[in-house]
Amino acid sequence: MLIKDILKQTRDKGSVPFSFEFFPPKTPKGWETLFETITELLPLRPAYVSVTYGAGGSTRENTHRLVERIRKETGLEVVAHLTCEGSTEAEVVTILERYNSIGVHNILALKGDVPKENRQGSDFAHAIDLVRFIRSRFPHFGIGVAGFPEGHPATPNRLLEMDYLKAKVDAGADYIVTQLFFDNRDFEDFVERCEIAGVTVPVIAGIMPITSRSGLQRMAELAAGARFPARLLRALSRAADDEGVERVGEHWAAEQVMNLLGSKTAGIHLYTLNSSKATLRICQSLGIRSFNAL
Ligand SMILES: Cc1cc2nc3c(=O)[nH]c(=O)nc-3n(C[C@H](O)[C@H](O)[C@H](O)COP(=O)(O)OP(=O)(O)OC[C@H]3O[C@@H](n4cnc5c(N)ncnc54)[C@H](O)[C@@H]3O)c2cc1C
Repeated sequence: MLIKDILKQTRDKGSVPFSFEFFPPKTPKGWETLFETITELLPLRPAYVSVTYGAGGSTRENTHRLVERIRKETGLEVVAHLTCEGSTEAEVVTILERYNSIGVHNILALKGDVPKENRQGSDFAHAIDLVRFIRSRFPHFGIGVAGFPEGHPATPNRLLEMDYLKAKVDAGADYIVTQLFFDNRDFEDFVERCEIAGVTVPVIAGIMPITSRSGLQRMAELAAGARFPARLLRALSRAADDEGVERVGEHWAAEQVMNLLGSKTAGIHLYTLNSSKATLRICQSLGIRSFNAL
């Protein structure tokens, strides 16, 4: 089923779909742990899951392998991320044909951030070019794109950035998934700015719980420009130990999700970091056993 249809179905039911994100593990132990994680999270009945793709194709085979395995072993709908920077049209066609042949028709179309020294010839300048390409060559595919509530660092002009986002949606994207954020007001403001700009597709909130101090540093690097509210940083600095940091991060994410459930969000996408612990604890503290019952 296409994600846009899942979003419509849940909206018609008056509920909010939850989804989980995983990344392809690098080691055999990592694969084992990930499938334990997936088994632990399955009873929650997510609407779909997504699998990341290393910029420049660095996880190409492993992304495909993980998408295929989740699909076969769980029957869940899977969104395959695909980045285009450094790719040729022929490479993208090969990837999409392989997904088509295993019944995977949902793609999150992204640019990716390839380090300058590794950049080679690319048939795509921006994610919009990938969206256009998929729409023209694989019109039956569902396409999601990324959105940045706090702004994307490469475009300091926020009005121009919204024009680019609208163009990406007009080129054929069905929905937007956001970068992580820690203040729901940034998400709500983003959704409203989308509405004003005439971007009418559903906007799914991306939530990543902080699980360690080193994780916090990684997030600050990966999601460059992310705002860490003082109240959150104060709570983290009060944490007595690693367990305390984890609890603060989970509590913060749970509060974000609880407030989002009462807002205009079209869905909640949890960045699991391939571990079930934080996701399960967030759901426990919200009293949720299965998203199906929402
Ligand atoms: C939900 C989500 C999932 C992600 N998954 C992955 C993943 O699996 N693998 C990975 O490597 N990365 C992933 N990323 C990171 C993403 O690839 C980077 O943040 C990248 O810098 C932006 O990608 P984009 O698709 O938004 O690019 P684009 O839409 O191309 O935007 C990139 C920048 O270019 C600007 N821009 C857009 N169009 C134009 C134009 N016509 N002219 C000039 N400037 C323009 C935008 O404003 C923005 O600043 C993910 C991000 C999100 C939010």
